[in-house]
Order: sequence, then structure tokens, then C-alpha cells
Amino acid sequence: MENTCLFCRIVAGEIPATVVHRTETTLAFRDIDPKAPTHVLVIPVAHHADVLSLAADPSAAADVLAAAAAVAEQEGLTGGFRLIFNTGPHGGQEVFHVHAHVVGGAPLGPMLAAR
Ligand code: 5GP
Ligand code: ZN
Repeated sequence: MENTCLFCRIVAGEIPATVVHRTETTLAFRDIDPKAPTHVLVIPVAHHADVLSLAADPSAAADVLAAAAAVAEQEGLTGGFRLIFNTGPHGGQEVFHVHAHVVGGAPLGPMLAAR
């Protein structure tokens, strides 16, 4: 746990969140500013700053992927969904505890905004 990390503090129960799924190694909770009808963040309990760090811990990476799949099923995203890891400045990452965005519940449009 990193005291200054927002998502570590959510894991510790110090900051409230609407938790929708939990395993020993992962936590999933609703995004505070949803960008789609369903917008859930799936995180490893262990602190990893970004997906590059998570990839170096294959067990945690697999657990996050399995939890994201479970969330998609639980949320009834039968029409499909996106699983997004924003990474680094170009990816627009704002919170540096890795999180998979599970977004869906309606057609999501083009993958990226037109440039
Ligand atoms: P990023 O840009 O790092 O990929 O995404 C960070 C996400 O965390 C954003 O979608 C933002 O709305 C969400 N977020 C930021 N602070 C909080 C919070 O305190 N609680 C919850 N549930 N989500 C948050
Ligand atoms: Zn953290």
C-alpha cells in the first residue's frame, strides 16, 4: 500500500467507492465520472503504477484480466465492451495505480476521437 495513492486508499477502505467485484488480488469499482452506461475500473490490490509494471507480474495481470471478464459478464455487457489501459502522458493516464477501464452498455463509437 502506498499512502499517497488514491486507489491504494480505496483498497484500504479509506476512500469510499462503489465496489462491484472483489477477489483476493483484485478490486473493481464504478468510475466516479462514467463515460458510458457501464464504466468500471478493475485494479490489482497490489500497487503497480501502470500496465508495464503489471505486465511484469504475470499472476496479477492474469487476475486483473479474469476480474475484468467477470465484471463484463456480471454487468450484462452481452453487446460487447472495451477494456482500456491508459498509459503514460500520450495515453492520458491520470491515476498511477494501474486500472483497466471496462466500458460498455451502449455502442461506443469510433475507438479514437478524430484528429
Ligand atoms: P485514467 O485517466 O488514469 O486512465 O483514469 C482514471 C479514472 O479514475 C478516471 O476515469 C476518473 O474518473 C477515475 N477516478 C478518479 N478519481 C476517482 C475516485 O476517487 N473514485 C473513483 N471511483 N474513480 C475515480
Ligand atoms: Zn496504489
